[in-house]
Amino acid sequence: MAASGSCQHDFKLLKSDTTLILWNCHMCHSGPHWYIYECSKCKLKTCQPCTYKA
Ligand SMILES: [Zn+2]
Ligand SMILES: [Zn+2]
Repeated sequence: MAASGSCQHDFKLLKSDTTLILWNCHMCHSGPHWYIYECSKCKLKTCQPCTYKA
């Protein structure tokens, strides 16, 4: 698992099918969100605004 600082992030949108699975943003700690962007390389999960900052 690469450190987020050295990763060329490749974000994929994850959407929850259930209210039982919600995510918090790893960058700004906002949430819980019913959808999240996850980097397929380092598994960093971020909200939409943070995908541009990451
Ligand atoms: Zn990454
Ligand atoms: Zn965020």
